[in-house]
Amino acid sequence: MAEKQVKPLKYSSLDGLSEKQLKEHHDVLYAGYVKKINEIEEKLKTADKSEANATYSLIRELKHEQTFAANGVKLHEGYFENLGGDGEPYGDILDMINDDFGSFNNWKNDLIAAGIAARGWVVLAYDLDDDRLYNISCDLHNQGGVWNSIALVILDVYEHAYFLDYATGRKSYIEVFLKNIDWEYVNSQVKKYDLVKRKAAQGG
Ligand code: FE
Repeated sequence: MAEKQVKPLKYSSLDGLSEKQLKEHHDVLYAGYVKKINEIEEKLKTADKSEANATYSLIRELKHEQTFAANGVKLHEGYFENLGGDGEPYGDILDMINDDFGSFNNWKNDLIAAGIAARGWVVLAYDLDDDRLYNISCDLHNQGGVWNSIALVILDVYEHAYFLDYATGRKSYIEVFLKNIDWEYVNSQVKKYDLVKRKAAQGG
């Protein structure tokens, strides 16, 4: 894995999320994952593979935490990137949501419920095997994800994402998240992976 750099925030505050809340989350927590993935990748270069053991070995610990830190970076980058918009869905992603969830409202209600039920993340993801969207929930960065899926909208529901602003009010935070989604960015991801063409070709 190439050395990671901290990606800057595109905004300093959002409607409903304070500068302090976002700074703690981005500058301290997300930046911490970037630092750790680089450290892990470095240590993996010299870790003794002959001592690999599933109860305890350095290679086991490094491999395990590699997925935790790498997903910590990926998920946080997607989360910060998909905020900063006006929350008004449009375009290809809206058509895909309508197709796969029946309506935008159905998707939204499913996301809110999943967000309350999860302990870590909810990801609107396009499954390349089923050629459809799912809201996937994860309790940890490296637990609960589904392979061969492309993350399109990423919601962090760890308490650190909202506790300064909302204390235990997770539902209010999720509603604020929805109001700030940057659907232009989400549509750019749909385009990047050519998902409309793919879905049409697969009959998904
Ligand atoms: Fe987070």
